[in-house]
Formats: sequence, structure tokens, C-alpha cells
Amino acid sequence: MMTNGNGKTGPKLTLWEKLYFPEIIHGMSITIRAFFRPKFTRQYPEERWTPPPVFRGRPVLVMEDETKVERCVACGLCARVCPSLAIEVQAAETELDKERYPERFEINMLRCIFCGFCEEVCPEEAIIMSKDFEITFTDPRDAIFGKEKLLIPASHLKDRLEFLKQYR
Ligand code: SF4
Ligand code: SF4
Repeated sequence: MMTNGNGKTGPKLTLWEKLYFPEIIHGMSITIRAFFRPKFTRQYPEERWTPPPVFRGRPVLVMEDETKVERCVACGLCARVCPSLAIEVQAAETELDKERYPERFEINMLRCIFCGFCEEVCPEEAIIMSKDFEITFTDPRDAIFGKEKLLIPASHLKDRLEFLKQYR
């Protein structure tokens, strides 16, 4: 029996085990096998990736294709539920049937944590998570996305809207 660093006894090693050859050969065989396996690394950005509908990219506002009007009725629920206080909505009245619309709608993308709570709480399916994950800015002021960046036609968000219908 041998003693380890704690003074406890362990199994006695044979001469072959003391040489460590079997373990070195075993380790090398694993490395060589892994070397010839197919690689999973994606050569981004040359090799693009289209996320599946379940993916939660940046939140966007849905705009109806025919009327070019946003679905949002400026109820403010998304701003209330947002855990990082990233959303600001300023409501105004409109002549349209929905009566209210967001005169100003902003999301601070430096604050957004892509949790999807705004999407979950919205009664109109007006704010949803998109597939867009490529968000960069050089100036923090550019991280405030207004309606001009947030409004996306419903036809471009089909995958996510159908996914939501399925699970709601
Ligand atoms: S995804 Fe979450 S953090 Fe981002 S705006 Fe919506 S509720 Fe706020
Ligand atoms: S996006 Fe939805 S939850 Fe947010 S203010 Fe508009 S209607 Fe209300």
C-alpha cells in the first residue's frame, strides 16, 4: 500500500502502471479519434446562420403589410413588465379604430436582456422577438432604437408569429 498527500493509503501501482504508458496511449488515441471527427465550428461571419423560430433575437414592432400601421395600441404593458426598464412608450390618440398608437416607442438595446417578457405580455402580438442577433454600435446613443428601427413588416416575421400561434 502507498500513502498519498493526505497520509491515506491507496492501491499499490504495478511496474507497468508506474511507467504511465497505457494511459498516455489511451489519451493519444482519444485525441487522434477526435481529430478526424466532423468539425462543428462555424466560420462566422463568412458562413451565415439562420436562427430557428424559437430563437429570441432583438425585440421588434410588428407593422401590418397592407396598411403600414403598427399593431401596437400603446397600452404600456411591455414597458411595465420589462425587467431592465429598456422600453419607453408615449401614447397618443389616433383616428384609426385602435384609438391609441405609440407616438414614440423606444427600446434601449444596451439594457435589453432578450428575455421575451414584452412579447409574452403584449395583448396584440405587436412586439415580438426577431431573428436579428447582429447588433453593434460605436456610440451608446445609437443603442436607443426608435420606431424607424423597430418597425418590421409582419411578412418578414412570419416564422416567429406562426411559432407564437402554436404555443399560445
Ligand atoms: S426582451 Fe426583455 S429586456 Fe428586452 S425589451 Fe423585452 S422585456 Fe425588456
Ligand atoms: S407593444 Fe404591445 S404591450 Fe407594448 S405598448 Fe404596444 S400593445 Fe402594449
